[in-house]
Amino acid sequence: MTETEVLIIGGGPAGSTLARALRRAGKDVAVMDKAEFPRDKVCAGWVTPAVFEELEIDLEDYARGRVLQPIHGFRTGRIGQRQVQSDFSGEPASYGIRRFEFDHYLLQRSGAELLLGQALETMRRETGGWLVNDSVRARLVVGAGGHFCPVARFTGAKGPGETAVAAQEIEFEMNPQQRAECRVDGDVPELYFTTDLKGYGWVFRKGDYLNIGLGREDKHRLSAHVEAFRDYLAGIGRIPRDLPGKFKGHAYLLYPHACRPPVADGVVLIGDAAGLAYAQSGEGIRPAVESALLAAGVILGCGGDYSAQRLQPYTEALEARFGKRGTRAVETGRLASQARQLLAGWLLKSRWFSRNFLVSRWFLHQQDKPLPVPAAQAHGNHFY
Ligand SMILES: Cc1cc2nc3c(=O)[nH]c(=O)nc-3n(C[C@H](O)[C@H](O)[C@H](O)COP(=O)(O)OP(=O)(O)OC[C@H]3O[C@@H](n4cnc5c(N)ncnc54)[C@H](O)[C@@H]3O)c2cc1C
Repeated sequence: MTETEVLIIGGGPAGSTLARALRRAGKDVAVMDKAEFPRDKVCAGWVTPAVFEELEIDLEDYARGRVLQPIHGFRTGRIGQRQVQSDFSGEPASYGIRRFEFDHYLLQRSGAELLLGQALETMRRETGGWLVNDSVRARLVVGAGGHFCPVARFTGAKGPGETAVAAQEIEFEMNPQQRAECRVDGDVPELYFTTDLKGYGWVFRKGDYLNIGLGREDKHRLSAHVEAFRDYLAGIGRIPRDLPGKFKGHAYLLYPHACRPPVADGVVLIGDAAGLAYAQSGEGIRPAVESALLAAGVILGCGGDYSAQRLQPYTEALEARFGKRGTRAVETGRLASQARQLLAGWLLKSRWFSRNFLVSRWFLHQQDKPLPVPAAQAHGNHFY
């Protein structure tokens, strides 16, 4: 029997960030993940600089033996149309990582007890906490298991009724011939919006690795969309014709569309388990990390009482950071979607719009300052 105060289900960026923040404040923490690490995660691996700052990652140290692709521009446009390039001089506007390496690095340094290769199967309430898989006792269980996190049902998540983004991706190390055929620049990823504007595809070269994918708000015939996109890219000579292996799929919820309550008695949801990805870009790593930092502050302030009432400030902290769900945020989402339909045709051809709105605001979120680093929480026990 493992006894711990906080059991985190899922060792992705959300889980490892929370584990590290709580361990630094002296809490007893275990992370359970169904996978052994390092493990692959279906993702383009595009990370904004705010994430590295919030995680206090020394870029030089990280880059030793791992892929860290600096990004100095983006090419954007609609499939079948001319692309517009937005350049960012000076410091990199973003980075490309491989989730296989990134998630392993974060989990290893978290300092938590690791229960890897173990899926959460059962979770029963007992006095003072939870009994998980009949083998782990914990006062608080944190759901950080991504979109399909089983802990989410304990806060009332509906599951099948939710509208999720469905996406498929392939990532592989290019051989010399594929490298020669690939015309995508490492520091300028390419984004291609679908003609109905219900999603976008990407091509992202990270060192010798190539990542290609496409996500849509409508999962109907997703594989056909992905296949057509792949053929289009090969046809215009951007990617090699022979791709090894198949595209892999996954899903996530956009923040305005998610309706999962983030807390219940003895339960907190963070990251994709709570449905936090940014509406415009689908970026989910930054919200996952930030939700973990916000949750850490609240958990530390609970003084060991993990009732829903004591955990409620986490819901408020999420709303303060990401907006209120179901009201203005959704309206803004609807307006944005109508505006997208009407204006996108010509806006996407505008260099000014592409750089200042599409890339800087909607994709890079440069208007949002990074959250303060977790060291402050260790001393202050406050939430942001
Ligand atoms: C195709 C695609 C491309 C994307 N590209 C980007 C991108 O470029 N940049 C970006 O910011 N975001 C991207 N996202 C979103 C991003 O991947 C997620 O938002 C992010 O991984 C969320 O982190 P997390 O820690 O909440 O969950 P995850 O990273 O999903 O981690 C969850 C962990 O929980 C474990 N787990 C699941 N179920 C159980 C269980 N029952 N028991 C135990 N463990 C369990 C899993 O093994 C996993 O390790 C992309 C998503 C997709 C689908």
